[in-house]
Amino acid sequence: MKPFYSTVAVVGGGASGMIAALTAAEVPGRRVLLLERQQRVGRKLLATGNGRCNLTNRNAAPRDYFGSDPAFAVPALSAFTPVDTQRFFSKLGLLTMTEENGRVYPFSDSANSVLDVLRFALEREKIELRCSFPVEEILPEKSGFRLRSGSEVLHADAVILACGGAAGAKLGGVTDGYRLGKSLGHRRSGLYPSLTRIQTDPEYPRSLKGVRVQAALRLTRRGVLLAESNGEVQFTETGISGPAGFDLSRAISFGGEDQLLHLKLLPYDAEGVTSLLRARQRRFPELEASDLFTGMLHNRLGRVLVKAAGIPSTAPLSDLSEAQLRSAVVQCLDFCLPVRGVDGFDAAQVTAGGLLTEQFEPQTLESRLHPGLFACGEVLDIDGPCGGYNLQWAWASGRLAGRLGS
Ligand SMILES: Cc1cc2nc3c(=O)[nH]c(=O)nc-3n(C[C@H](O)[C@H](O)[C@H](O)COP(=O)(O)OP(=O)(O)OC[C@H]3O[C@@H](n4cnc5c(N)ncnc54)[C@H](O)[C@@H]3O)c2cc1C
Repeated sequence: MKPFYSTVAVVGGGASGMIAALTAAEVPGRRVLLLERQQRVGRKLLATGNGRCNLTNRNAAPRDYFGSDPAFAVPALSAFTPVDTQRFFSKLGLLTMTEENGRVYPFSDSANSVLDVLRFALEREKIELRCSFPVEEILPEKSGFRLRSGSEVLHADAVILACGGAAGAKLGGVTDGYRLGKSLGHRRSGLYPSLTRIQTDPEYPRSLKGVRVQAALRLTRRGVLLAESNGEVQFTETGISGPAGFDLSRAISFGGEDQLLHLKLLPYDAEGVTSLLRARQRRFPELEASDLFTGMLHNRLGRVLVKAAGIPSTAPLSDLSEAQLRSAVVQCLDFCLPVRGVDGFDAAQVTAGGLLTEQFEPQTLESRLHPGLFACGEVLDIDGPCGGYNLQWAWASGRLAGRLGS
């Protein structure tokens, strides 16, 4: 027979912890405690999506997720899909809108709205909220668990570990969850920053700072393709930012040295770009080579490509040789930047790696070591790409953990 847990402690008042607490509280007569180390719940949530909170993605599917064993995430993600997330929030009173690429945001365009409806629900469901309560110890007892914060001790029949990961350190990302897990015998994989800026050889990005472009990106190491992405890229002082860059940061974190980033800056093949450039040469013979791409690409980017192609910037377009045009085409379709690494956990949106999923039941997220202990969200070794996928994992896994195996 399934145990009935009359007191449940959720450790961590972030995205996954709040939904886990609300789910656990659906059982009448149960006491649910939500323990949060910061002064208020959902601090990181407020910063998501640049303050807009990209709360899910209509296209998110289990196959999109990473981890040592991504199949672990399938039951949680299949039981609570992006449509379920929208329905869940709609019932809480949140109006949402879906943008291109399936990204879902609150209609108010403000992450505050997402947190507000969650906070109201926590209050309505009489969940006992304890903020500024950093759980320092979880001890299994004969029946249930003892949780300690400073000199205060609580007892719970079941515990849901929802401490998040190390990413977003300035917003409260900590390693407590891994430490608490370890004290209970749980092991973790290596931890890497993901969805963060890529650092490249700064010679070009510095002059391109602020330029945005739609590009196809490839990451290679010694000629071997490691990863690909598509979409918006923003050049920064030290490299590349923007969703398409973020999506490669995980592979870079894991990838080792000698990595090269290849940017395809126009959506045409070599033949197409060559004929475009030849036509420009014919129509505007008096223009200087530095304007070869003017009107096609951001002018600063165009000039950088001309320079990278080794073409003197003041040469008239009419004088450019076939070889020079070919070289410009190559730069445009395969602009290469040597990779130096990625920004650290401070700037990262998510942690790749976490508590080993092999020590948890995928159908319930219950620990295989301690019955009555559950885990959800980023603390587990599951992460997703940019665009609402990580919050979708937080909601889906929090919902499953909050069912406490029933
Ligand atoms: C800047 C930024 C932007 C992002 N934007 C998006 C986005 O638009 N879309 C998207 O899908 N994802 C986004 N993410 C990722 C997403 O926010 C996380 O994946 C998600 O919040 C993870 O949920 P969680 O509940 O596991 O952890 P968190 O939301 O981090 O919550 C964990 C909570 O546990 C608390 N805690 C930790 N240790 C203890 C302890 N010992 N005792 C008590 N409490 C504790 C923490 O203070 C925290 O409140 C973004 C992340 C960042 C940093």
